Amino acid sequence: MSFIPVNEPDLSGNENAYASDAISSGWISSGGKYIRAFEDQFAEFCGVRHAVSTTSGTAALQLAVAALDIGPGDEVIIPALTIISTAFAVCYAGATLVLADSEPDTGNIDPQRVQEKITPRTKAIIPVHLYGQPAAMTPLRELAQAHNLKIIEDAAEAHGATYGARRAGTMGDCACFSFYANKIITTGEGGMVTTDNDAVAARVRRLKDLSHSPETRFLHTEIAYTLRMTNVQAAIGVAQLERVQEFLSRKARMAELYAQGLASIVGLELPVEREGTRNVHWMYAVRVTKEFGCSRDELMRGLKERGVDTRTFFYPMHQQPVFQERGWFKGETYPVAERLSRDGFYLPSGLTITPALIERVCEAVRDVQREAKPQ
Ligand SMILES: *Cc1c(COP(=O)(O)O)cnc(C)c1O
Repeated sequence: MSFIPVNEPDLSGNENAYASDAISSGWISSGGKYIRAFEDQFAEFCGVRHAVSTTSGTAALQLAVAALDIGPGDEVIIPALTIISTAFAVCYAGATLVLADSEPDTGNIDPQRVQEKITPRTKAIIPVHLYGQPAAMTPLRELAQAHNLKIIEDAAEAHGATYGARRAGTMGDCACFSFYANKIITTGEGGMVTTDNDAVAARVRRLKDLSHSPETRFLHTEIAYTLRMTNVQAAIGVAQLERVQEFLSRKARMAELYAQGLASIVGLELPVEREGTRNVHWMYAVRVTKEFGCSRDELMRGLKERGVDTRTFFYPMHQQPVFQERGWFKGETYPVAERLSRDGFYLPSGLTITPALIERVCEAVRDVQREAKPQ
């Protein structure tokens, strides 16, 4: 019986041809035709004026925070439940991290909890569209407007997701995407900042490339970075974008099949798609409740024995050793994030998964439950 991986990219289109073309052209660093093509086509895909490529999703967040002039003394509110990249971006700028708890159904940052954390020092909010479900952007945007805050969307898991008429990547002052190998489209490693704001786009472009003075190359007026995507990566990205709609359809079909296959199982909470939104199901994220009959970890172990690979949710930020060591978030609790982190995991969600493999996963879940719950 074959092992079903939790994720797998699909590189069977023009990836090889375009990457080879980039290499043959000699343009293997951050010059070359694929860079601008990928940026322009990604901007069009999102429906946004500018897309600026970078080395990773984490770098995109770092550049976004820097480009919005967030620094020491500023507070930035992020979800307690996210990947550490969201938090690190704030740390790099020397700003202060403030956490907000999750909504129980989506796992996304809860606007009410955000409101409670706003102080005169709050400068920005970074909502994360967790596992492909857009965060509650209308209330978050209202809060931002009322308190003069910036919004950086962390859309690293949400290429193509929509909220009302808007696409992920267009709902804040800027947004950040990742093209890591397990994301909806990939460049191996890579990221993008999208924005409608000309000044922010120009600033991200400068910051990612040593901030050469516009008048004189090799004269610099600020401390900047080298966080440039290569032409070879962008070539892979152009090939991936050619098939992004097909990838999104496959994810939707995967979610449909899992929802059908798992519907009759008690003790499993399935992912939600809020009304008026499109959840792109980057990962098919489920939660185990008491009724299931065994713990999340026991279920994951049972699945592994049956050849099914899974991953746990992220660990909440206030429980991260790197922050506890610094005495941050002392005494703070985020009960919803803690519960999701304890009970949540995701099932195999790769782009190459077939209906037959999805059925095998569902059967394995039923099998573990049968074994856990003697009649
Ligand atoms: C993957 C991811 C990132 C980081 O992207 P990298 O390209 O791995 O640096 C940031 N935020 C979220 C929500 C992610 O899932």
